[in-house]
Amino acid sequence: MSTEVLIQAKWILERFNAKGKPILHRDAGILVNGTQVQQIGQFSELRRIYPNLTILGNKESIVVPGLINAHHHVGLTPLQLGSLDYPLELWFASRIGLRDVDLRLDTLYSAFEMISSGVTTVQHLHSRAPGGVPGLEKSSNLVIEAYREIGMRLSYSMALRDQNRLVYEADEDFIKRLPRKFRPGLSEYLKDFTVPLDDQIGFFESLYKKYKDESRIRVQLAPSNLHWLSDAALEKTADTQNKFDVPLHMHLLETPYQKIYANKRTANSALSHINKFGLLGPQLTIGHGVWVNEEEVDLIAETGTNICHNCSSNLRLKSGVAPIKSFFEKNIPVALGIDEAGINDDRDMLQEMRLVLMIHQKPGIGTWSLNSSEVLRMATEFGARTTPYGDSIGQLSKGSEADLIILNHKKMVYPYQSEDINIVDVLIQRTKPKAVETVLVAGEVVYNEGKFIKVNRDGILSEIAEGLSYPLSKEEMKRQELARSVFPHVKKFYEDHYQYKLNL
Ligand SMILES: [Zn+2]
Repeated sequence: MSTEVLIQAKWILERFNAKGKPILHRDAGILVNGTQVQQIGQFSELRRIYPNLTILGNKESIVVPGLINAHHHVGLTPLQLGSLDYPLELWFASRIGLRDVDLRLDTLYSAFEMISSGVTTVQHLHSRAPGGVPGLEKSSNLVIEAYREIGMRLSYSMALRDQNRLVYEADEDFIKRLPRKFRPGLSEYLKDFTVPLDDQIGFFESLYKKYKDESRIRVQLAPSNLHWLSDAALEKTADTQNKFDVPLHMHLLETPYQKIYANKRTANSALSHINKFGLLGPQLTIGHGVWVNEEEVDLIAETGTNICHNCSSNLRLKSGVAPIKSFFEKNIPVALGIDEAGINDDRDMLQEMRLVLMIHQKPGIGTWSLNSSEVLRMATEFGARTTPYGDSIGQLSKGSEADLIILNHKKMVYPYQSEDINIVDVLIQRTKPKAVETVLVAGEVVYNEGKFIKVNRDGILSEIAEGLSYPLSKEEMKRQELARSVFPHVKKFYEDHYQYKLNL
């Protein structure tokens, strides 16, 4: 059986040039050979050379590189599982009470949403798992194998953390602030998530080695955040990164409280502190970065560090609006991540791009705003840079991985769309998941006309519904009670010690 296939389209977006302009091909075709793009050119010419190949798409299709969700954690959302949105620091406490979901089903759930909105690669940052190293192994295995099952490209990491598991102070100090009766419960809970740093690094090494020869699965490092990592852990992270040469993704300065924390802990700023360990550079992506100051933006730019913008999450958890204009003015590559979930409580990347386009506009004529090409570049080329796949994805040039989406033009624009509007503007401003007709990852069709090729979506959804149709388990009830008990004390901790002032 031939592994070659021809893709036909009215417009193919190959990539962006150095100035950020889209390179578009009209009435074009792509020859996919195995997992990669072999050739891109006029469709009629390709068809003449390859008259017998199967054709995907048609003369009205729009083809763009697969989108990259550069910051993702979970499947069913915290809202679905029992937590309202709160400012991040309170949300950590509220989330203790979430229901348990089978991690395979959970991973497939959000993969359905991502793929059907054009996402082919996900940066899955697994935050934590109970039960020591065996717990880390079990959860990583379930998550990674679920992505393999559905055919998505994955960059996976288990977050590194060695301190301050609930609030921005040592676990034992915070436990002492609680009324005596709540102390054993929280202590036991946090202990279950405590793994010695060397064991976490050892776990990364074994996982990295296990998957290092895979084509669609890679493992990288995620130092979780400044407050979650001691200086010893930051040093160890830098050493491990040097040894394995993997990318790093680190949450940083997501909220005003994290900025206050950095000011208390470091003599200068969060960014200059982690720079002391050699962590900044093109290998690092900073997740969020909402509260960086001007000097920090300069440091990010000078070192070639990436940012991942998690727009919906910043809104939902009241973290603020990231200074995207400053990032763009300094030519910092900014990727896009949906984080836990977008403002529709799902993982619709098309909607997320639209939100990003709109929210950073400054009022008035001639004022700064993002354009559609810049937003699409964030979700493709710049997203790719934050993953171990680099420039082999996020574009459709010869030799690139054949990760792409074929959009149905009629479903994008029906009943009418003026041709005066550029196709990239139409894509960002009007397109909904229903227009995503076919999704290829590494040359393989994983989604076509609303159906997942390798997984039965309806079956998985009914398994999720069935699994959660029972009353809370004893363990779930215990955790829900714990969440309710500690929540007001977490709130008080920040009120007493982290007075957030607007003039920060
Ligand atoms: Zn996150």
